[in-house]
Amino acid sequence: MTTIAAVPDLFVPQVLGEHLPVRLPDGREVGYANLDYAATAPCLATVAAAVNDLLPWYAGVHRGVGEASHRCTRAYEQARATVGDFVGARPDDEVVFTRNTTDALNLLARALPPGTVTVLWDGEHHANLLPWGRTLRLPAPASAEEAPAQLAAALARLSDPALVTVTGASNVTGEVWPVAELAAVAHRHGARIALDAAQLAAHRPISLRESTVDYVALSGHKMYAPFGCGVLIGRSDWLDEAPPYLAGGGATAAVSEHGRRVRWHTGPARHEAGTPNLLGAVALAAACTELAGADRAALDRREQALVDRLRSGLSRLPGVAELRQFTAGHDRVGIVSFAVTGVAGGDVSAHLAGRYGIGVRDGLFCAHPLVHRLLDEASARLERPLGDTAVRASIGLGTTTEHVDRLLTGLADLTPARRP
Ligand code: PLP
Repeated sequence: MTTIAAVPDLFVPQVLGEHLPVRLPDGREVGYANLDYAATAPCLATVAAAVNDLLPWYAGVHRGVGEASHRCTRAYEQARATVGDFVGARPDDEVVFTRNTTDALNLLARALPPGTVTVLWDGEHHANLLPWGRTLRLPAPASAEEAPAQLAAALARLSDPALVTVTGASNVTGEVWPVAELAAVAHRHGARIALDAAQLAAHRPISLRESTVDYVALSGHKMYAPFGCGVLIGRSDWLDEAPPYLAGGGATAAVSEHGRRVRWHTGPARHEAGTPNLLGAVALAAACTELAGADRAALDRREQALVDRLRSGLSRLPGVAELRQFTAGHDRVGIVSFAVTGVAGGDVSAHLAGRYGIGVRDGLFCAHPLVHRLLDEASARLERPLGDTAVRASIGLGTTTEHVDRLLTGLADLTPARRP
């Protein structure tokens, strides 16, 4: 079994709740094994500290004149700059705070110039599958390497303006998509490209400048900053020309008597009407600062060792099938979904929680078309029927070898060789 690569002096940023006690139904107490980072990640200690430091000064952003309001306005605008830097934004990109990735992608969908067709693959998360108007859905490519050629062929046939949208890393399989190559193809055909980085951002560095991606959306709560903030970052022209995402105070430059004529701001304010989520933005920025300052290559090596250990353990359990779209060796972040022959996903996760104090996710992970297809394909590989829901284990900064081993031990109870 793979051991965690020894990375001497590796500083792993600390998350809160690493040693939470869980009382099991049989009376035993165990430390909680959180293997559900892909759903929502625990809070970084530095994020909690940044929020706590600002709380005594908490006041209106962009609206007050006292010292507290000045500080909060500075903190909010500094957060905007920090988050932009974290994703390698270009100087003229806009950074619009939203509630989460879903909100950010819905905002972009509303800002598309009339007549734009959105081109995407069938397996996207519902947040990147459903908000768009006219869409051209491409069938799943047989391999990630095939995706750029497939996109080129589709865009060559399309005469309308297009936005390509793609996930950076699948929330079902953790598999990483060839984003920079897809961006090059999109631009060659006069299209733009958006990156759903909800899963990628916590695991890998992102650079809009280097990848030439036009827009990126991400969520603070998946990046160790659980204070209800997300962001859409990218080209300003479409955003400045679109109707405001929310109509209300803060988005308006001037409103005539009786509100009949309204002049809307351009820039991020246009889409951020209402009192902004200051603490969320500050939390997200603090997470960006912490991650950007960490040795991300070393953290990735640590994560890969944990993923390898998990996957090789799963492959040795009879009746357990991993879900994947691409080849078994394809690059992936710390997300692994699987199914157990003859046991529904919900029963697997209940067993892991009740007997082992483990938190995983079961179901179809808001990617129903993809999970249905991958379950069918995994059943065919295993030559045994699998249930119609899966289980997902996902890894983050607080994950240990012991958590992974405990999961594998818990699953061994359920596999056909062990069941009576
Ligand atoms: N995109 C992907 C790939 C996701 O995994 C998720 C959430 O799991 C989303 C989008 C939506 O994120 P949120 O729920 O934070 O809006």
